[in-house]
Amino acid sequence: MELDCPYCHSLDSKIIRRNPKVICCNSCGLYRLSSRMSYEQQKEYLKNLTISSHISSDFLETSILKRFFPALFDGGKILDVGCGEGSFVYTLKKMGVEAIGLEPMKQAGTEQKAELNIYQGFFNREDIPAEILHQKFDLISFRESIYYMNDLGMTFQLLGAILRPNGGLYLKMHVASSFYYLGKKDLTVRYGKCVQFMPTRKALVSILGKEGYKILKVFWYSCNVLHALGLPHSNLPAKVVNRVLEKIFAWTEMLPSCYYCTKRVKNGIK
Ligand SMILES: [Zn+2]
Repeated sequence: MELDCPYCHSLDSKIIRRNPKVICCNSCGLYRLSSRMSYEQQKEYLKNLTISSHISSDFLETSILKRFFPALFDGGKILDVGCGEGSFVYTLKKMGVEAIGLEPMKQAGTEQKAELNIYQGFFNREDIPAEILHQKFDLISFRESIYYMNDLGMTFQLLGAILRPNGGLYLKMHVASSFYYLGKKDLTVRYGKCVQFMPTRKALVSILGKEGYKILKVFWYSCNVLHALGLPHSNLPAKVVNRVLEKIFAWTEMLPSCYYCTKRVKNGIK
């Protein structure tokens, strides 16, 4: 289905790749598939999938949160949107944070998982569970899930309703402006079928600013550049080249995976 820009709703765009066709919004700069799933199609697709039952601890990102949102670990409350199997919720709970997860896919049930507060639903005013809509959060996280929001403007409106003033917004994602996509014909390789948009660094920074979020810090996940480019990467010279390329791409903000720590400082323009 041919749809407008999921953030600014403009139809004015230019072609970035042809197969599958990816276009860039001339107004806000987000990339999107020129034919993509509607929200209704996306809901049907996701609701019928089941997510893995495996839960594990991962303390890398919680250490980032501890540094930039310390109050969260002192009686704060977090909502993890698109929480997947719930590992992040599980890890935060172990650290004493009141953590709630929201995930469109069904959970494969285990006893351990039943103890986690994970709701099945969408981050959309029509479909968000009432138990979540009527709460206020100190931090809301989107970990590899922001690009599945069907209307990013509405996403920020809903954030404004349930995130406390001065609350944190934490985004972990891949950006389409990274080196990883430079030579790739198919830009959807990492994003999957029901992606609604692909953020570029520039578009993302601009949208966060417009919506009233101040960027506190951006972290880049280390990356084996030569491996990602499909080149030999295990001998010593390759390791040195890798290190240099990684530094260059970190400096130019072109590494693929990043973590944005931001804070809501004012109401957005809408
Ligand atoms: Zn746009």
